[in-house]
Amino acid sequence: MTLDEGRKHPGAGVREPRRLTILGSTGSIGQSTLNLVQRNRNIYSLVALTAGTRVKALAEQARLLRPEVAVIADARLYGELKEALAGTGVEAAAGDAAVCEAARRPSDWCMAAIVGADGLRPTLAAVEQGKVVAFANKETLVCAGEIVMRRVAESGATLLPVDSEHNAIFQVFDSERPGDIERIILTASGGPFRELSLSEMADKTSEQAVAHPNWSMGAKISVDSATMMNKGLELIEAGHLFDFPSKAIEILVHPQSIIHSMVAYQDGSVLAQLGSPDMRTPIAHALAWPHRMEAPVARLNLVEIAKLTFENPDSKRFPALSLARTAMEKGGILPLALNAANEVAVAAFLRREIGFLDIAAVVEETMERMPEVAADSLGEILIADKEARRLAQAASEGHRLAAQ
Ligand code: NAD
Ligand code: MG
Repeated sequence: MTLDEGRKHPGAGVREPRRLTILGSTGSIGQSTLNLVQRNRNIYSLVALTAGTRVKALAEQARLLRPEVAVIADARLYGELKEALAGTGVEAAAGDAAVCEAARRPSDWCMAAIVGADGLRPTLAAVEQGKVVAFANKETLVCAGEIVMRRVAESGATLLPVDSEHNAIFQVFDSERPGDIERIILTASGGPFRELSLSEMADKTSEQAVAHPNWSMGAKISVDSATMMNKGLELIEAGHLFDFPSKAIEILVHPQSIIHSMVAYQDGSVLAQLGSPDMRTPIAHALAWPHRMEAPVARLNLVEIAKLTFENPDSKRFPALSLARTAMEKGGILPLALNAANEVAVAAFLRREIGFLDIAAVVEETMERMPEVAADSLGEILIADKEARRLAQAASEGHRLAAQ
């Protein structure tokens, strides 16, 4: 294909039809993925769509895009899904095991976009097929990074990072010569409370925490951005994806979210990936990889933006950053405990049971109380995850009482 032909046909860079599975299709990442799929129906067809509880949204997507199967994780919603799909030819299924079975169906490409550690088993099921896995579900890597990366190596799967920072790093990382790379620079927007003091943050509500200045995302990751735990999770995620130690990964606050991350080489060169803050760019990169496709995102206008600024992160006001770095450096089950406690604490905050600053406190208390257990197998990880959630729940109760 010539350059001109490629320009005339958006998506024409991808030559072979691709069969896709989307885990978490009703979420923010899932919907953005389907938005791109819909614009390129000549290339992409769907094997499976899966969701947690949003059965109406799932049925609507399935009626429109006609996958082979639509799966709702909450088994109580099976009847409703089956009824909504009657006469469409789309198979309905329900339950956690059915989500994993859907991930195992033969396909060319799977988007792992379930939120939280609940995505672990379905993501592993996709990885074990040795297929291309577009990887958004960062909590899975934080709680079971060694196992996930081991299974990627065993199965020959290709992991394509979708998180905007990791996708940016992937685009400028010379994987043939990682020894030439001095450090990775992970950029962070700083979230909606970047300029607030601790006392100003103390009484922030979930609505205020979820209102991110640059990105539109699901509720959990939006709260993680406000506490900056998101950057902590991404630090650990980057360590696993690029096999880099904590000391070689720097966090840099860049409030405009235009530079999505950078890689610094030993000759002083720093390579960056830039773009408007729209997840459809990294998703399009993963959908078309190793080609490129047209994405309907605002084109970057640097004259209009005029100024890009940078600051050091402040771990006094954002203690989640140092908790995550400690977890990464000490290793073992601490990253798992950090993630599980954060999931419990964010859920309690979204239910208005604990305050904003209690989130990091619950994570810290859980990490301190977590017994030194080994967790090398999936079974051990699931047991440790359960224990961390129990401890975090108890810590949350303590803060709830303290708040009243
Ligand atoms: P979301 O809450 O909008 O969507 C989550 C999806 O997972 C939904 O489809 C939901 O139905 C499904 N789900 C939830 N619990 C489930 C369960 N127990 N079993 C099966 N399915 C379940 O979340 P999101 O913002 O789309 O984020 C998804 C993942 O991508 C997260 O790990 C997040 O950290 C990561 N990520 C998101 C963004 C973003 O811009 N939204 C950016 C980078 C990374
Ligand atoms: Mg990110």
